[in-house]
Amino acid sequence: MKTLAQIGAALQGYDPQALRADQVLAFLAELVAPVTATRRLPLFDALGRVLAEDLISPLDVPAHDNSAMDGFAFDGSQLRAGLPLQFEVVGTALAGHAWSGQVQPGQALKIMTGAILPAGLDTVVPQEFVTPAASGNSGRITVPAGLLQPGDNRRLRGEDLAKGSRALSKGELLTPARIGLAASLGIETLLTLRPLRVAYFSTGDEVLSLGEAPREGAVYDSNRYTVFGLLTRMGCEVIDLGVVRDEPAQLKAAFMQAAGQADAIITSGGVSVGEADFTKAMMKELGDVAFWRVAMRPGRPMAVGRISKEKLASIPSNTGVNSSENHSGCSDRLDAEPRAAVLFGLPGNPVAVMVTFLAFVRPALLQMMGARAAPPPLLKAFSDEAMRKKPGRTEYQRGWVSTAADGSLHVSTTGSQGSGVLRSMAEANGLILLHHDQGNVVAGDLVDVMMFDGVI
Ligand code: AMP
Ligand code: MG
Repeated sequence: MKTLAQIGAALQGYDPQALRADQVLAFLAELVAPVTATRRLPLFDALGRVLAEDLISPLDVPAHDNSAMDGFAFDGSQLRAGLPLQFEVVGTALAGHAWSGQVQPGQALKIMTGAILPAGLDTVVPQEFVTPAASGNSGRITVPAGLLQPGDNRRLRGEDLAKGSRALSKGELLTPARIGLAASLGIETLLTLRPLRVAYFSTGDEVLSLGEAPREGAVYDSNRYTVFGLLTRMGCEVIDLGVVRDEPAQLKAAFMQAAGQADAIITSGGVSVGEADFTKAMMKELGDVAFWRVAMRPGRPMAVGRISKEKLASIPSNTGVNSSENHSGCSDRLDAEPRAAVLFGLPGNPVAVMVTFLAFVRPALLQMMGARAAPPPLLKAFSDEAMRKKPGRTEYQRGWVSTAADGSLHVSTTGSQGSGVLRSMAEANGLILLHHDQGNVVAGDLVDVMMFDGVI
């Protein structure tokens, strides 16, 4: 495992005091490693988990050649260019019931969507094209000329998925479509990677927990709620350690408890330059931690690193907190190999927390989950307003993206972009991403937007 110094040394132009967003991502990709422990889960429980092995189809899908339409099946070799065809209807094949009779030349079988095509029948005429219109299970029908080719409206055995081929790949996030696909193959359980366990707490003497009486200069803790929401949406198990006072014994106890139980620790507050508090000192004492100034807005100060579990175990605890105690309702232990908990020390400002989470923490956690997830796609939208932007930092503006009458995408900001203004985040449906080298935006320019939908 590389130390933070080694990771930094290998990174081109690494300067902790002026880090580009892309360098943060490259650094974090080296810092974190995927979990290895697996769990076999029934499909309903596998939703949102990461698949731990390739899933090979045990079946042909569909299992038989079958009809794609309600209509009449016949042997398509009888089709002749420019000539209508006449058939005698000899029976009906329903979905779920194989039809066992014989169909001779000049005969057709009434067939329902999904019903097996008996051997020799390869073409289906949809019922709305035949005459007479109200054709029943017997009688004569006429198929108009020039309508069909042999093989039309037939689904071939194995055309969706052939037996022995890969249906799902290791590392895929189990979406509704993917658990449905597993079910369509008759598979009842999936081998998944165990979920990540993430502990978080807020720091700062001015931060109030809900239920506490308001006092002058204090703010209610919103970060624990946004972080809880962001983690839960990702399928992480969360361990909420509350608001921790700016006091060494409490901070130490919180870090010890977090590192003893979790794969990752997310803190907010106390990492700015010139913070007159103990958070940074405690991070330094307990781990291998780097303090960064990232060239971005919002969210400049950040700490990242590892809090070593062995190191913690060797520190005598006089705090009354037993680090192996399990407060989270999570029953089983972590992977057998000793691991360090990865620390993401986020800034305190509520929007900075969400933006740094989306930009950096989320991709790193996905990597830890073992997920092969592409970054969310960026869309291009016309900016309805001018935006001031300094080249040399990445900016994330809260925006509302909508489709105009002509079908084009437009975006406007949702008001004050101060890094503490959660209201404009709550009113947004995406982030406008103004890249590192980009300058001012004038109204009508195309800008990149990252939609929240499907992400948070
Ligand atoms: P800091 O990064 O600790 O300097 O905090 C920056 C700003 O974010 C300050 O105005 C804090 O009051 C505010 N802040 C810090 N933590 C929280 C929190 N958990 N919830 C809401 N605001 C916070
Ligand atoms: Mg503070």
